[in-house]
Amino acid sequence: MNFSLTPEQEQIRDAIEKVCTPFDADYWLRKDREGGFPDDFHHALAESGWLGIAMPEEHGGAGLGISEAALMMHTIAATGAGLSGASAVHMNIFGLHPVVVFGTDEQKRRWLPPLIQGRDRACFGVTEPNTGLNTLKLKTRAVREGDHYVVHGQKVWISTAQVANKILLLARTTPIEDCKGTEGLSLFYTDLDRSKVEVREIEKLGRKCVDSNQVFIDGLRIPVEDRVGEEGKGFSYILHGLNPERILIASEAIGLGRAALKRAAGYANEREVFGRPIGMNQGIQHPLAKSWMELEAAHLMVQKAAWLYDQHLPCGAEANSAKYLAAEACYAACENAIFTHGGMGYAKEYHVERYLREAWIPRLAPVSPQLILCFIAEKVLGLPKSY
Ligand SMILES: Cc1cc2nc3c(=O)[nH]c(=O)nc-3n(C[C@H](O)[C@H](O)[C@H](O)COP(=O)(O)OP(=O)(O)OC[C@H]3O[C@@H](n4cnc5c(N)ncnc54)[C@H](O)[C@@H]3O)c2cc1C
Repeated sequence: MNFSLTPEQEQIRDAIEKVCTPFDADYWLRKDREGGFPDDFHHALAESGWLGIAMPEEHGGAGLGISEAALMMHTIAATGAGLSGASAVHMNIFGLHPVVVFGTDEQKRRWLPPLIQGRDRACFGVTEPNTGLNTLKLKTRAVREGDHYVVHGQKVWISTAQVANKILLLARTTPIEDCKGTEGLSLFYTDLDRSKVEVREIEKLGRKCVDSNQVFIDGLRIPVEDRVGEEGKGFSYILHGLNPERILIASEAIGLGRAALKRAAGYANEREVFGRPIGMNQGIQHPLAKSWMELEAAHLMVQKAAWLYDQHLPCGAEANSAKYLAAEACYAACENAIFTHGGMGYAKEYHVERYLREAWIPRLAPVSPQLILCFIAEKVLGLPKSY
């Protein structure tokens, strides 16, 4: 077993750190205050080719695995860009995985290069207000009319829909009463035609610069050639992208947790109270040491899940566990970083309160911790399905 980075992975980490350097803590603090998509950051990563890290080489990507993509996302978050930086490119990295696996050559030629070059920006439309985590009950309806589908419905929490020109959309093509098993939903990758789609931003706790939205779809026309794979099989296609997405967000969470821990340790060494650095007190040391261990342990699970995925081995339990463990470790690290800063932890200029607000995202999305526990109980422990 070898836990060290390969020379190529070290190069990836160093190169990403270099691209991120101009986007320092003050940049992300300003973005957190003022909002506005971090176009310059997105552009810097696109220009240096990083958005295609996991895309096939024949379409302009680097053809690397989820291990490398996870390393990239960890590095972005750990520089202090946190979830604001990671979410600005997250969808690019593995979001179009169902297209890579199930799309035709013509579709890949049409869709992947502009995404890799940063000319297209995609959002991912799955969640709906009235179905929540019960994805098989989605209501947004796509009805075939000749060589088009016409879509009506509503999505919620769709990130980057303010700036995206494309949407990967899961919609119902068979009425729910006629559906068997997981069939009945279809996947489309198509233009986000704003004359038929209204996008309303949701005011939220953190990550102000990467928008999340309510999306109202009223008569969106999707050409048949924008359907990915077979009609009715969209849910199974989406499943292929779920494990890599969990691995990526877990990796981002660990990066964010480590950024918080670094700030906390720095402050604990500098801040003197009662004539000595606060970091000399075990009450300050122990929670930080515990967070370090929790982040390391979660990272091992991320690496294991990524390795399994890259070897084409089943990794559902590991990917879900990685997402759960990383999100919880990240949240605890951010909370400990605030405690370490005392009152200053609550001040925006010390950055850690922003990290804590962002740490909620990997806990809540793309799947809740409760549902992960249900999944492990059922699939690993053999207990009855509870949801
Ligand atoms: C910042 C942010 C960005 C997002 N970006 C996107 C995006 O780009 N695209 C997209 O499609 N979605 C996105 N989402 C949506 C996200 O994936 C969902 O919020 C998440 O999957 C949970 O769904 P829900 O909010 O409908 O929760 P619900 O399904 O309403 O669940 C509410 C609570 O009940 C619990 N619960 C429900 N059923 C059970 C059960 N049987 N047992 C135990 N507990 C249960 C859940 O665990 C949860 O805690 C985003 C969300 C956030 C917060």
